[in-house]
Amino acid sequence: MDFGQSPEERSIQDVARRLADLLAPGYVERDRAGVFPWKELAMLGEASLLGLNVPEEAGGQGAGELITGMVCEIIASADYDVASLIWQAGSTAKLLHRHGSDEVRERWLPPVLAGQAMAGFAFTEPGAGSDISAAVSTRARRDGADWVLDGEKNSMSFNASQLAIVLAGTPDGPAVFCVPTDSPGMTVAPYDDLGGRQNGRAVVTFDGVRVPDSARLGDPGRGVGQVLSVLGTSKVLVSAGAIGTASAALRDAVAWAQDRSTYGATLATRQGVMFPLVDMTTELEAARLLLHRTLWLADTGQPYRKDAAMVKAWVPALCTRICMQAMVTVGHVGFSREHPAQVRLRDVMVTEFGEGTANVQRIIVAREMTGVSPN
Ligand SMILES: Cc1cc2nc3c(=O)[nH]c(=O)nc-3n(C[C@H](O)[C@H](O)[C@H](O)COP(=O)(O)OP(=O)(O)OC[C@H]3O[C@@H](n4cnc5c(N)ncnc54)[C@H](O)[C@@H]3O)c2cc1C
Repeated sequence: MDFGQSPEERSIQDVARRLADLLAPGYVERDRAGVFPWKELAMLGEASLLGLNVPEEAGGQGAGELITGMVCEIIASADYDVASLIWQAGSTAKLLHRHGSDEVRERWLPPVLAGQAMAGFAFTEPGAGSDISAAVSTRARRDGADWVLDGEKNSMSFNASQLAIVLAGTPDGPAVFCVPTDSPGMTVAPYDDLGGRQNGRAVVTFDGVRVPDSARLGDPGRGVGQVLSVLGTSKVLVSAGAIGTASAALRDAVAWAQDRSTYGATLATRQGVMFPLVDMTTELEAARLLLHRTLWLADTGQPYRKDAAMVKAWVPALCTRICMQAMVTVGHVGFSREHPAQVRLRDVMVTEFGEGTANVQRIIVAREMTGVSPN
């Protein structure tokens, strides 16, 4: 298999590498500041990296999911949080393009793809996490030409976003709505999270929030399917981000082992130090191959649901383990807030939750294998 080797794909990867070189030195400081990376979002937009997997007619590059995954990995090797802006922008643009009214598309698609605006997904609720198809308690009711939303979503990443994309129940079933976050009656209360600190995450509440009918994405009753169809490749891109972060952690750990001496010899000469790094390098390479193959299946119109779930069930946990081992290899230095090793570990853990946990992916794989859900 020969993935990502066309001249166009190579040149996109070169652009991403140059940007990653610019981003890497500021990673620790941006994490410490915990401020949404608007400047870095704009840099991604200027480099045309936000719409790689978005059709050209929607304003994207139409370059595909595989090259998007490769770019996510490259950017995440410098800064996981900044890389996550890529799959979020792509998923947002796909949802808006596929299901949005003309008004919504014109208002939001160009700034999202240019890196001038951000949208968060407000799907999870206190009573509906893994199972987002469970009874959605946030309600949207018709009031004349408008919809009025009431309820609480308790996990929206990118909480500085100008737009929330909200799953809400209607009398005809769940529907998706575009809600500007400065709408009267809407509050966004940030969490103090362990990782993903640049992007932030919040509880979002709706108290009589009014939006026009043009803010509705698609027909009531189809909301869950619309959301899941976009998350199908997005969860693989999340995993590509995890691989990028873990690769950078491994690279630094190996370099440290070559440089650092104990008992008269470098750590690189110790089997106890190097063998875990060797095994993890092997596992990471295997994970990357499965991930690339999955995105290639998606790009070529072949079924990829099981493969995507296998990736998301395996890769985040693997990459968390790698980032932990890499931090330990660097010793006490890696534990300091001055060192990227601990930022990578905290950031890569985000991938264990966002877009579905490992167990939920295992349920999907088992269902694809047997036709029944072991849940
Ligand atoms: C950093 C972060 C960012 C997030 N960003 C967003 C966002 O932007 N938008 C959004 O809508 N949500 C977001 N989420 C929420 C995320 O999607 C949920 O955390 C995730 O879907 C799991 O839901 P839950 O936390 O309610 O866990 P639960 O569904 O309560 O599950 C708890 C645990 O039980 C396991 N489990 C559940 N059911 C089963 C079963 N049947 N069999 C075996 N094991 C099971 C799960 O794997 C999990 O480990 C984010 C979460 C985090 C931590």
